[in-house]
Amino acid sequence: MTTDFTATRDAFVLPEGVIYLDGNSLGPLPKAAAARVAQTVTAEWGQMLITGWNKAGWMDQPARVGDRIARLIGAEPGTVVLGDTLSIKVYQALASALEMNPGRKVILSDSGNFPSDLYMAEGLCRTLGPDYSLRVVEPEAVLDAIDDTVAVTMITEVDYRTGRRHDMTAITARAHEQGALTIWDLAHSAGALPVELAKVGADFAVGCTYKYLNSGPGGPAFIYVAPRHAETARPALSGWLGHESPFAFDLAYRPGRGIERMRVGTPPVLQLAALEAALDVWDQVDLADLRAASLSLTDQFIAGVEAACPELTLATPRDHDRRGSQVSFRHPQGYAIMQAMIARGVIGDFRAPDILRFGFTPLFIGAEDVANAVEILAEVMAKRLWDRPEYHARAKVT
Ligand SMILES: *Cc1c(COP(=O)(O)O)cnc(C)c1O
Repeated sequence: MTTDFTATRDAFVLPEGVIYLDGNSLGPLPKAAAARVAQTVTAEWGQMLITGWNKAGWMDQPARVGDRIARLIGAEPGTVVLGDTLSIKVYQALASALEMNPGRKVILSDSGNFPSDLYMAEGLCRTLGPDYSLRVVEPEAVLDAIDDTVAVTMITEVDYRTGRRHDMTAITARAHEQGALTIWDLAHSAGALPVELAKVGADFAVGCTYKYLNSGPGGPAFIYVAPRHAETARPALSGWLGHESPFAFDLAYRPGRGIERMRVGTPPVLQLAALEAALDVWDQVDLADLRAASLSLTDQFIAGVEAACPELTLATPRDHDRRGSQVSFRHPQGYAIMQAMIARGVIGDFRAPDILRFGFTPLFIGAEDVANAVEILAEVMAKRLWDRPEYHARAKVT
């Protein structure tokens, strides 16, 4: 399969005059999603009412959609299920992994991780008691920090701020050598680059669908459990839809079969409808093509900005193997610069304290967009167009 990026671009609603470099944070609307959601609302919810759970297949949707995501992350069929938010899925994976490695009490993570992952780990440790702890090291120190006290590593493959990519193969191998389990957070990997969970031998993985996968704001997260753990991992969030037989309404909990046990409660049917439409676009994408296009766009952006804007400092690794699908630059006035860019139709975002972040998503961004974005950034910098009071006022979401 050769990916036709003209066709994938045509599958999205992209407002006139906008160069959207924030698909790493919230993917754009797939054209088919609006109609799909409308159909689910009017024809399914509207006409079928509660019978939709069976007739429209709502109840099986989380695992059915999970299998479609499995292809994008190199997972075996039947190992991925959708539901809840990523923070919840991080908690679930952590709780199960700690229970599976009872002699050890340390969760290892790094300071490049997204704070919510760290917060969830802290909260879980507090619940489990004073023996449990979260150890946070510098990203470069992760490999050496995996010793025989670590129960589980909780690492996000691609750093949300800098776009630095961890070596999943090396970290997983080292963790297993030391008797630790691995949780991979794929928030900035799924739909950004090829992931090979089965090949790498990952134990657990989690990720969200509203970033590169384009399911829309509030779209559900996914969780992966390796087949070898599927019948032994015990869910801490033991909700009724993860029960072996939800409609037996037993008073005692028995975990469901395989990945089904990682379900918690009622699935978000409307969001899943949007995700299914978004995944139709992914069916036409070869991930090797995607990666090649992404590296070419990020290379082009780095070269262009470095040539035109010497006052910006690159925060993203130059080495292809160590880079995700975004490019970040540092500048003390990063927030105001990004507001000036957004006012000129180039949408990226800002991450404190000083990161300008630009996501490159070949499904709808091409070389011409990159060239135009570079030109606009160069003008904003050269003429100090960012230095206006309205660009300094911080909004709630940055
Ligand atoms: C985006 C992101 C989250 C967000 O979690 P939600 O519960 O979906 O809000 C968590 N972790 C990482 C690594 C992320 O990039």
